[in-house]
Order: sequence, then structure tokens, then C-alpha cells
Amino acid sequence: MPQQPDTAVHEARIAGVAVDTRHWIGGRRVASADTFPDVSPIDGSTLARIARGGPAEAEAAVAAAKAAFPGWAATPWAERARILHAIADGVEKRLEELAIVETTDNGALLRSHRRGVMPRVAHNFRFFADWLLTLGHEDFTTHTGGPAAPGHTNHVSRDPAGPCVLITPWNAPLMLATWKVAPALAAGNTVVLKPAEWSPLTASLLADIAAEAGLPPGVLNVVQGHGAEIGDDLTSHPDVRRISFTGSVATARRIAASAARNLTPLSLELGGKSPLLVFADADPELAVDLAVEQFDNAGQVCLAATRLLVEESIADEFTERFVAKVSRLRQGDPREEATDIGPTIHPRQIERIDGFVRRAVASGARVVFGGGSHARLGGLYYRPTLLTDVAQDSEVVQEEVFGPVLTLQTFVDEAEAVHLANDTRFGLAATLATGDHRRAERVTDQLVAGTVWVNCFFVRDLRAPFGGSRLSGVGREGGTWSFDFYCDLKNRVMAPKGFHDHG
Ligand code: NAD
Repeated sequence: MPQQPDTAVHEARIAGVAVDTRHWIGGRRVASADTFPDVSPIDGSTLARIARGGPAEAEAAVAAAKAAFPGWAATPWAERARILHAIADGVEKRLEELAIVETTDNGALLRSHRRGVMPRVAHNFRFFADWLLTLGHEDFTTHTGGPAAPGHTNHVSRDPAGPCVLITPWNAPLMLATWKVAPALAAGNTVVLKPAEWSPLTASLLADIAAEAGLPPGVLNVVQGHGAEIGDDLTSHPDVRRISFTGSVATARRIAASAARNLTPLSLELGGKSPLLVFADADPELAVDLAVEQFDNAGQVCLAATRLLVEESIADEFTERFVAKVSRLRQGDPREEATDIGPTIHPRQIERIDGFVRRAVASGARVVFGGGSHARLGGLYYRPTLLTDVAQDSEVVQEEVFGPVLTLQTFVDEAEAVHLANDTRFGLAATLATGDHRRAERVTDQLVAGTVWVNCFFVRDLRAPFGGSRLSGVGREGGTWSFDFYCDLKNRVMAPKGFHDHG
């Protein structure tokens, strides 16, 4: 166990909410000798210093998860489900606190956290708790495999896999963490959660809530720290049985290489460069609404349809309506109810976004709207931006910007629309705006994407598979897909002979 250096207070205080900034390992708070600053994107102020974990903390957390595993795996399903519901109760009780802490830490809108994100966090626990209770074993009798096989019974069960390492990004910290934590725990696994260093706070509150709900020590561990400093030791650890990662392609490559040492199964939810295809037969208002929605969370959404592909005959009218609507978006403090678009997470991210825009302009792109930081609000508030005259093979069309930057290209027919839509290395999502039902089905069939939305965006049913093709990921999360990932499937084949008893 890493050193417990002193009795100093390791705490952030946000709107009166105390957040412990140490790790949570084996049911107790553990400090690190080193710390790093956590900065709010709202005003650049330092919120707290966070424990900076490394190899020792990784080792301690995995050891705690390993020690707690047999007990939790053997806990009856109904009891596991009860505790997950109690965690959901705790989230709902502290919803307002979680919302304000998350907004202060990552800059996403407070009203979204209150009304959409935090209720979904609670729902993540309830959904997987309920699903667990419906999870059946499969029994069937063998009727293939040669003359000896008939009458043999097969019994397929889902066994918990063991300690899981869950690594999450900063754009939707608690939602994405619990989307993994809930099914991993429901399935009977123990967890080491490593939140992103730019938004570490709500994971710490989750540890408190889980402990209050009666989750036994060591079942959920939360370690803080910078990516590889603690991540490599987590992902290469031989006692870790599953790794689930949401984040960038570059980090995924590194994690996959590290996991290869033990051939640890991986789930990867990565970036995207998703298209919004607007056909001339679409409802014009709806199409523009869908396009403007892509600026949610200042464009820091993996699923965002950042490539607007618009049928040439309506492109001018669409652009005019789009600009009129974007001009009305109110950018500002994400804690204010009236704000539509807040800040970008970190100065480094702003530099990255602006770099994309400057290079695009240098190679011929035209800025239709935005194209820099907000004059009054300053550096961290990048304006919603639309670029046209972009080539299909240009960087800004091919690479994920992860900021409020959209490109607009036109197409002349369905075939060209599909070609442009599929012509990147990603395959996370696609959105269509069309008034023609048959076209919607035809185009969907041809798109490479984990999710296709037609005349809607971001609608999710947690029973549905979620994930990406190509560089957007490996595997799917949601409903049964989550359980299949977090479980070892076992088939017991029993002969109808050789028993002394009568069963
Ligand atoms: P990132 O890859 O930089 O970091 C994600 C997490 O990985 C962080 O917790 C970080 O500390 C950790 N990490 C970094 N290096 C590591 C290493 N060597 N070993 C272990 N862990 C390491 O991503 P980000 O910038 O935080 O998030 C943005 C990216 O996430 C975008 O590409 C976005 O598209 C993607 N994303 C995908 C989804 C999805 O569901 N597909 C959802 C949200 C975000």
C-alpha cells in the first residue's frame, strides 16, 4: 500500500461540496506523495490538488480488487442488484452536488448535467441491476456431434471475469465511467476506475456514494493520475481480466500494446468523424436543428456529426438558416441557465482546435462562422465554427478535432453522399435528415457506423449496442453486450450416464 504521508486535508470545495482528492483503494482514502493541479475550464482557476498515482498505487488498487473479487463474485445476484440500486439512490440524492461539481470541473452545461446526464448516471446503475436479474443461463440438449452425443445437456453460464480496469475521458466523466462501472459490478467483477486527469472529481464522489450504499471495500477502487504514469501499470497487470477504455485512438493503441502482454480482453470506445447527411427532401428546420445540436458540449462529443454533407441544391439555403441559428447561440458561463455553449476543457485543447482551423484555412478552407476564441470571454471559449471549401482528403475532414468545429461539403446524389460519409478511417455514428423513408433505409444499409440516427440525434436505448467500427472502436457496450464482455462464458456438457445418484 502506498504511503499515507500526513494528515493534511486533501479536498476540493466546490459550491460547498467537499470532494476528497485522494485515491480510494480497498475502502479507504490513500494519498500520494505527489499531486497535480485540477483547473476549472470556466475561469482557469485551480480547484484542488489531486493525488498523482503511479506504479505503487496501480499495484495497490489491483491487489485490493483481486482480494475483494471472490466475495463479490459469490454475492447473490439479488444482493448485488440491491446495492446497485442503492448506489443509484445515492446518485439521485446527491444529483445537484454531482451536477455542479462536474460542471465546474469539465465546463459542460449545468442544466444538461441536472436534467440529462446525472439522471442517466443513476439510470446506468438501475438498468444493469435490473438486467442482471433477467440474465438467464441457457440450457439445451445436444443433438449434433455424432452418435455418442444425444442426450447430453449443455448449460451455458456467465461467470464474473475478475478485476477490471476502466479508463475514461473528460468530456462526460461520470456518465462514461458509470456506463462501465455498473455492468462490471453487476456481472460480479471488481473494478479499478481511472478517471481523466482533467476531470477527476466526480469519480471520487462516486466512491463515497458506493461506500454509503454498502458496496464492500475493494469492489470499487478509484485511482487518480496522469495517463501513462499510472495507466501502463494498470493495463499490463497480469491480475487484470478486462480493460475497458473510452478515449482517443492514440491512447487506445498504447493500451492495446500494453494489454497484449497478458492478452487481456479489451473494449475500446474511441473517436469519430461522423457525418450528418442532409438530403433536399428533408424538413429544413429539423435538418438545421440537427446540425446546430452538434455544438453541444462545445463539440466535445465523440458522436458529434462534425461533417455536414448537404445536397447541393439546398446548400445555400441550409447554410443561411444554419448561420442564423448559430448566431443566436449564447456562449458563456456553463453554470448559467441561459448558456447554450460553454468553454473548452483545457488550453491545450484550444491550441489543438485552433491549429486544425488555421491549417485548414491555410490550405484553402473558408470560415463561414466563428474561427477563433470569443473576443469577450477569452481563450477557453472557442466560438462555434463552420468551414467550407474543404477537400475530402484534408486533415480537418479526416481527423477528429474534438471541439466546436464543423465542416460543410455538398453532394449531388445519394451515391456521392454515401461515398463521402464512409470515406474516413472512423465509423462511430451517422445521422440522416431526409423525408423519404425508403431512402433512409437504403442509405443506412450502406453506411459504416455503429449507430445511425434518422431525423434525430443522440437518442439512446441502453438495450441497444453502442460502439464503433474501424478506428472508432473494438466491441460494443450496452445491454447484453456489456455482460458478455464482463463475463467469462462457460459451457458445461453433462452426459446422461455415469451418475450414482438420481440428480
Ligand atoms: P485520452 O485518450 O487522452 O485519455 C483518456 C483516458 O486515458 C484518460 O483517463 C487518460 O488519463 C488515460 N490515459 C492516457 N494515456 C494512457 C495510458 N498510456 N495508459 C492508460 N491510460 C491512459 O482521451 P481524452 O482526450 O480524455 O478524450 C477524448 C477522446 O475520447 C476523443 O477521441 C473522443 O472521441 C473519445 N471519446 C469516445 C467516446 C466513445 O464512446 N466512443 C466517448 C467519449 C470520448
